[in-house]
Amino acid sequence: MTRLEPNLKIPLVSHAKSSAVVIGAGLGGLSAAMRLGAKGYSVTIIDRLDRVGGRGSSVTKNGFRFDLGPTILTVPQVFEKLWADCGREFSADVNLVPLDPFYEIRWQDGSRFQVRRDEKDMLAEVTRNFPQDLKGYLKFLDDCEKRYVFGFEGLGRKPMNKLWDLVKELPGFIRLRADRSVYAHVSARVKDPKFRMALSFHPLFIGGDPRNVTSMYILVSHLEKAFGVHYVKGGVQALADAMANVVKEQGGQVLLNSNVARISVNNHKSDGVILENGLNLNADIVVSNADPGWTYDKLLPAHKKRRWSRNKLKKSRWSMGLFVWYFGTRNTKKKWQDVGHHTIINGPRYRGLLSDIFDRCYLADDMSIYLHRPSITDSSVAPEGSDCFYALSPVPNLKTSTPVDWCKELEIYKNKMREVLEETIPGFSSEVVAEHVLTPEDFEKRYLSPYGAGFSLEPRIFQSAWFRPHNISEEIENLYLVGAGTHPGAGIPSVVTSSEVLAQLVTDPVIGGS
Ligand SMILES: Cc1cc2nc3c(=O)[nH]c(=O)nc-3n(C[C@H](O)[C@H](O)[C@H](O)COP(=O)(O)OP(=O)(O)OC[C@H]3O[C@@H](n4cnc5c(N)ncnc54)[C@H](O)[C@@H]3O)c2cc1C
Repeated sequence: MTRLEPNLKIPLVSHAKSSAVVIGAGLGGLSAAMRLGAKGYSVTIIDRLDRVGGRGSSVTKNGFRFDLGPTILTVPQVFEKLWADCGREFSADVNLVPLDPFYEIRWQDGSRFQVRRDEKDMLAEVTRNFPQDLKGYLKFLDDCEKRYVFGFEGLGRKPMNKLWDLVKELPGFIRLRADRSVYAHVSARVKDPKFRMALSFHPLFIGGDPRNVTSMYILVSHLEKAFGVHYVKGGVQALADAMANVVKEQGGQVLLNSNVARISVNNHKSDGVILENGLNLNADIVVSNADPGWTYDKLLPAHKKRRWSRNKLKKSRWSMGLFVWYFGTRNTKKKWQDVGHHTIINGPRYRGLLSDIFDRCYLADDMSIYLHRPSITDSSVAPEGSDCFYALSPVPNLKTSTPVDWCKELEIYKNKMREVLEETIPGFSSEVVAEHVLTPEDFEKRYLSPYGAGFSLEPRIFQSAWFRPHNISEEIENLYLVGAGTHPGAGIPSVVTSSEVLAQLVTDPVIGGS
């Protein structure tokens, strides 16, 4: 292996002729590195954080491991395929725990709705809560499956970098009414406002406003129903670590605590990256898992953009921000027996709150919370007898003339959240012995996420498929993009699928010593 020297252009690995640098060790970057390694590239993956996983990384405080981001893993077969493409077996490296119920949704009037794994249990739950909407629900399930076949298995797995790629799909978009929003589609099928919420909130998991995200995204309900909701034993950090291990076992390198300052470009071709410390790594191809907004604006500052100019990025719609309070409570494991692994606690408003977050960019006093309690399933997250939680509230991103000043608001907002949570887990406040908070300002600093967005570009119809930053760069040769801001979009299955698309776009490496 060649030693890395500052300010020297050197090949990454002496025995291979084709090399790849991947900027970012999020799940998109890690899966890209695995696939490139499997093809025979000599791979170096670089991340500015102290561990791999990106939004799926963790922090440990006072014996509590807080998994910072994703908690729900659907479509495990995207990982089985990823591992198989690398000649390995997923289940040998990662342990998935299927959950049932998937989650429980609660409303202020005391009603509760559990989303269940077994079809019979699920229909019983719908009949108990929303009997008048059962027929519409069955029709909705059928709609979801059709969109899954078209959108996930078809379009999501194909490159979308040529206009023709999109044009070919237009009849499908029209037939499936992609112009309609998720909320509008759900409303056409069921009448109860609570059921409308329960069937339409999923785009929030990938940063979209259900009132505006294309109805293609109802396919998420099919993913849950058909493939289940899983928890990764050891948290998503364990999954990311397993991915990094595969990269290392393929002979790749993982450089942490290393910030890429620029992508180096010669004759319109990227030929490596320059780190903040001056280190210059050359490579035949560069794959960026950094946000496309950051990639085009900051990592290619001198290059004139044909499509992703600063102005275009500024005009784009970015996903909402997130306020996440992670906390560990002492000796509470036997308490709150009715609070499971995932609970969604609705505030008094649904559409009004969405409007505050997405249209008015206003930090409301009320909130809806997604409460994660991994200690129910995984004893490794907390000291014995203790509990580990995170409470997540969608909030406006920072793209407004008067962004929230989180230095000022953090404690105030946390106290409001505490009051809401006390109704679900009474007495928890006095048992908190470890905590951590992320605000949109932290997303901006930690992940270099434009406007502190939780999930990169919002998945609206004119920011999806061909309209999203392509997996093969429109601006520079030898540059590729993977991850949430590219095609097919945010969420674990999609960012891993972006590397499946990448593998179709890169040429096979030249291998062999000279
Ligand atoms: C709180 C939260 C909960 C979520 N819950 C779920 C869920 O339950 N299920 C689900 O499927 N999805 C969920 N998601 C979405 C999912 O986590 C993300 O879409 C996905 O993990 C993004 O992966 P990525 O590879 O695109 O990017 P990221 O995870 O953002 O990784 C990008 C990496 O690039 C690095 N980087 C950026 N710029 C540079 C640079 N210049 N130099 C070096 N390194 C750089 C960053 O440090 C980061 O590690 C959740 C997201 C959040 C935030």
